[in-house]
Amino acid sequence: MGNGLGKVIQPIYDEVIARNPAEKEFHQAVREVLESLGPVLAKHPEFGEHKIIQRICEPERQIIFRIPWTTDKGEDMINRGFRVQFNSALGPYKGGLRFHPTVYLGIIKFLGFEQIFKNALTGMPIGGAKGGSDFDPKGKSDSEIMRFCQSLMTELHRHIGEHTDVPAGDIGVSAREIGFMYGQYKRLSNKWEAGVLTGKGLAWGGSLVRKEATGYGAVFFVHEMLKARGDDFEGKICTVSGSGNVAIYTIEKIHQLGGKCVACSDSGGVIYHEKGLDLDLIKQLKEVDRRRISEYTKHHKDAVYKEKGNIWEIPCHVAMPSATENELDGKDAAMLVKNGCIAVGEGANMPTTPEGVEVFLKAKIAYGPGKAANAGGVATSALEMQQNAMRDAWSFEETEVKLHKIMKNIHQLCYETAEEYGEPGNYVVGANIAGFVKVARAMLAHGVI
Ligand code: NDP
Repeated sequence: MGNGLGKVIQPIYDEVIARNPAEKEFHQAVREVLESLGPVLAKHPEFGEHKIIQRICEPERQIIFRIPWTTDKGEDMINRGFRVQFNSALGPYKGGLRFHPTVYLGIIKFLGFEQIFKNALTGMPIGGAKGGSDFDPKGKSDSEIMRFCQSLMTELHRHIGEHTDVPAGDIGVSAREIGFMYGQYKRLSNKWEAGVLTGKGLAWGGSLVRKEATGYGAVFFVHEMLKARGDDFEGKICTVSGSGNVAIYTIEKIHQLGGKCVACSDSGGVIYHEKGLDLDLIKQLKEVDRRRISEYTKHHKDAVYKEKGNIWEIPCHVAMPSATENELDGKDAAMLVKNGCIAVGEGANMPTTPEGVEVFLKAKIAYGPGKAANAGGVATSALEMQQNAMRDAWSFEETEVKLHKIMKNIHQLCYETAEEYGEPGNYVVGANIAGFVKVARAMLAHGVI
């Protein structure tokens, strides 16, 4: 964000870069947290003395493995699998698996690092991890996806377990993939261990509201930020990038709270529908038929599809980036602010570049960073683990009330921490410090490990 890191923290950051070369997303995620921590070290010299920051930046364990599988045509394929078990100070490692061709160690480490603080903010007993593969699920048949997931789990099963490490979904991994992986885990372990994966199907240990949780949670968070400024979603024009799991349920909750979402996207282009998006159609296209968002205009002649368009050019009151990292840069942020945007809530992880974040903070709009705003997904995964441990299943209403309460608490914690450290209204500082302090205290208590 252009802030200096200061005499104490700069050498720590330099060492992270030297030890992890060519992992630019990881560097970005580390820098963004470290920029907030100067005042924390001043207040808690014990964290500095015991090198808590240096330890938190080094994953406890990194696993990289081969995933061989065969296409429907009989061609042998090789992908690379990752699981980075970053920090278990607060509980078993927890974090999703991403299947996308851009995946490499630097992406998994940035996501795993963010996950440590996000999970701490939820108040649930979960550590931080992330994993995935450079496998591209696009255009693959169900049986190819199944064989790939089985091969991945053939290695991964040795490293996970309900008390060790509990993966879930992320980009390219939904209930279908979790099902194939769970089936293979069950076969290899000869155990019904529901708590080993979250995001499961409802008939076999899944939780109601898990599918909706990240999107709903992000909207709850933005609603709290708006309320803190005496405002709400009623009548607000909103744009949501992406059209996957997070985007769909972000749009749904915005509509339920009286906002109007006019645009969404995928990696091919942007849909703009002035009278408000038809969410039933989007669900049919994306969740059931697995099609591209461009097909939306076949059903709504008054909607516009812009190939390779930029969703942030569309004027809105609330923007919710919900696709992928670094999808909103400094120019986009300036355009949003100029066009009257008053709030940004990140459904995706690190979707705004450091330059973009700086624009939002300078403009003093309500800006909710991903590690706080999208924590509802992992929080509901932890609720799924609770239900599995109790062999129970809660109703939709009961689970949504719990999610809502967790998001309100996260907002409150970030808000109060930002005030305590002299940066009122800065949720970046609030989230980074609140998450860090919680993990740091637990690490100190566990000794030098
Ligand atoms: P999905 O796979 O369901 O959807 C991803 C969406 O983002 C798709 O519309 C996809 O378009 C688009 N997208 C992905 N990669 C790119 C890219 N490189 N450029 C442009 N568009 C892209 O994933 P989710 O909705 O689960 O995840 C979205 C974001 O939310 C990610 O950042 C993820 O880490 C984060 N997140 C997800 C959580 C969850 O519970 N699922 C929890 C917390 C955060 P296309 O189909 O064209 O690729």
